[in-house]
Amino acid sequence: MIKTKEFQKYLLEWFAAHGRDLPWRHTYLPYHIWISEIMLQQTQMDRVVEYFNRWVRRLPDIASVASASEEQILKLWEGLGYYSRARNIRRCAAILMQKHNGHIPDDYSALLSLPGIGPYTAAALMSIAFNRDYPVVDANVERVFSRLFDIRSPVKQKENITFIRKKAKKLLPHGRSRFYNQALMELGALICQPKNPDCINCPIRSDCKARILGIQNERPMPVPSKETVFIDMATAILLHNGKIFIQKRLKKDVWAGLWEFPGGRIKKGESPAEAVVREFYEETELRIGHLEEIISVKHSYTIYRVTLHGYYCRLTNGLDKPVLHAAQEYRWVSPDELSAFAFPAGHRRLLEHISKERDLTERISHSLNE
Ligand code: SF4
Repeated sequence: MIKTKEFQKYLLEWFAAHGRDLPWRHTYLPYHIWISEIMLQQTQMDRVVEYFNRWVRRLPDIASVASASEEQILKLWEGLGYYSRARNIRRCAAILMQKHNGHIPDDYSALLSLPGIGPYTAAALMSIAFNRDYPVVDANVERVFSRLFDIRSPVKQKENITFIRKKAKKLLPHGRSRFYNQALMELGALICQPKNPDCINCPIRSDCKARILGIQNERPMPVPSKETVFIDMATAILLHNGKIFIQKRLKKDVWAGLWEFPGGRIKKGESPAEAVVREFYEETELRIGHLEEIISVKHSYTIYRVTLHGYYCRLTNGLDKPVLHAAQEYRWVSPDELSAFAFPAGHRRLLEHISKERDLTERISHSLNE
């Protein structure tokens, strides 16, 4: 049986001594908590700190987000992935300006009605930004509780989620929600890690059933993993008249608003070079050839493992007016201008690679004479 007061005391004292020094913890401004929480979804803390600092330097408040262009927002988000989060922030900021006088509402139901804010983020805002008595349960908290209470089935099962929420709420110290929830999440991130938890330094070890039984490494119970899907894609950087062709993805696309080089999936029996010539034509009606292999880059998202084969190419018939079938807009840009556009992960890796190549400028100037 957990002694609630002692549990709270040890946990809060540990957090006061060992909690990380994060930029949004200096202010606890609702705007800062909101941006950090959205960035932290699916992203490691170290990366978020860098992106957060850059974001708030450029967009210091909700009004500045509401008046920023989608292009600016996506550029600030470039590399964080899951771009719908960034688009939702912008939509949400516009609603906050119209309906909430530019403030984040201190109201759970009002928060839930905003784009990109689900039950987890609404609870995190209520707790961390406004210090209201809401439990916040993320994957770290689920892991801590699965060990603390020795939960013997996968934590994501509905009944386990309900059980953890109930326990998290019961153990919450009234009026200390801001620090209690962060302490639990921090404990999961720093001490009660997935492998080899540091039980010796854990402030709640005397209550932890899994530790007492010596089975902390067997909790949480594993979930059957989803099958990984491997995808091969090809793309080509078209050089023409000293410029590079880029196109902006369609509005309903998963990477809507991001820029890319045309290309797509390699079909069965096709070589990457054949695929890129076909895809280029299907997407733009431009005929390309004279392919030169650049590099193949790998990247992952959700269950997908993508290998992207990159090429340089030239026009084969000189016709340079595309008819777009997979994009909303196109541009011919110089290599220096590329950094102003936001690209999805694979294309960005390709760009990082070619930006180190000394001969890109030479290739471009060579294309001037074609
Ligand atoms: S005692 Fe160990 S397993 Fe239990 S909560 Fe602490 S770190 Fe996790």
